[in-house]
Amino acid sequence: MTSHSTIGHPSEGQTNAEWAERRGRAIARGVGMTTQVYAERAENAELWDGEGRRYIDFAAGIAVVNTGHRHPAVMEAIRAQLDAFTHTCAQVAPYGSYVALAERLNAMLPGDFEKKTVFVTTGAEAVENAIKIARAATGRDAVIAFGGGFHGRTFMGMSLTGKIAPYKAGFGPMMPGIYHAPFPNALHGVTTADALDAVDALFRADVDPKRVAAIIFEPVQGEGGFIVAPQDFVEALRALADRIGAVLIADEVQTGFARTGRYFAMEHYGVAADLTTMAKGLSGGVPLSAVAGKAEIMYAPGPGGLGGTFGGSPIGIAASHAVLDVIENEQLNGRAMVLGERLTARLHKIRETVPQIAEVRGLGFMIAAEFMKSDGKTPDPDMTNRVRTIALEKGLILLTCGVYGNVIRFLAPVTIGDAVFEEALDIIEASIREAAA
Ligand code: PMP
Repeated sequence: MTSHSTIGHPSEGQTNAEWAERRGRAIARGVGMTTQVYAERAENAELWDGEGRRYIDFAAGIAVVNTGHRHPAVMEAIRAQLDAFTHTCAQVAPYGSYVALAERLNAMLPGDFEKKTVFVTTGAEAVENAIKIARAATGRDAVIAFGGGFHGRTFMGMSLTGKIAPYKAGFGPMMPGIYHAPFPNALHGVTTADALDAVDALFRADVDPKRVAAIIFEPVQGEGGFIVAPQDFVEALRALADRIGAVLIADEVQTGFARTGRYFAMEHYGVAADLTTMAKGLSGGVPLSAVAGKAEIMYAPGPGGLGGTFGGSPIGIAASHAVLDVIENEQLNGRAMVLGERLTARLHKIRETVPQIAEVRGLGFMIAAEFMKSDGKTPDPDMTNRVRTIALEKGLILLTCGVYGNVIRFLAPVTIGDAVFEEALDIIEASIREAAA
């Protein structure tokens, strides 16, 4: 049990510190690390490490297990699929569950038009494919993206991402044809008009709008700091895409599947994107992603132009069917709204006596708090990190985000029970108060 064997259960007999030391020697430095909690097992909103310590998980694998760790219905679906087959490649021997999941997503997605879907494996890969499809459909090359946006770590995903360190620095020239405009951010003084003026300025100085294949944005910027796109901005992007003949892509990789209290955040806006990227919460912890949208746009790439060996893995597809059932049966969209309100109310109450909380914001249960120094305008990543580390010491896993690293995001599973949720709220309050003192 205490051997350093390279096989067997990953955490067997090893302390977190021992694993951290081995990790340092074995794993590329470029893979970031938020905690040194080496997971042993997890259940709904709780996680235990190899030392037997229990944590409340307010990361949910970065907005992936919205239906909780090991939801029984999801586990059952995965088990049944394991007993049938694990991989045939959807392009070789297809399976009905793949087609049926596409039908479900097509029916759920906002937009009063015929839709089609392609399955791939990661969020970044969904973004890559959305751009390929938009380029094929328009015969154009350029893409408009936004500062602070995050779209993945592949070459196109990284190029679209609106943050240099740590995502783009040192990785050489980015993909050509990509132009960034600022994203509206009331706290930092960027209005919808400012953002749209900046796009106009791009059209005057940098890129002919006739060259623009796509405009890609997150309805709520995730890594960028849980910044909710204003209603008038989303409407303006829709109108702009229509005016210049570009494909509007909503990147819902982080916002999808009950996180914001809807299947898709775009439902809050009553605006339909042409294409939507999804991953993370789509399949409850098994890698699966998709691009779905307007049938006539999806039609553009020819057979063989899309897909991949693992795209639409039968296990991911089976898990996803179960995730969609759970969201519906347990009314998790409604639950997300309730949890989001309770968390927001508690954070507002803390804010009354902790002025370093500059803003509490979000959509549904995609909630964050932004921390500033006492001048009210200088981002305070140090305090933010203190909140995160103190909470971890108290047994709560939190994540930071934001272009200045001064935002705490709260991403608990939407299935979290009331008692554990209350316990977490108390830890959040104690951690913020201690970090502020
Ligand atoms: N788009 C958005 C909005 C994301 O939040 C992420 C992941 N944080 C990605 C794309 C990339 O997804 P993945 O890490 O699965 O490649």
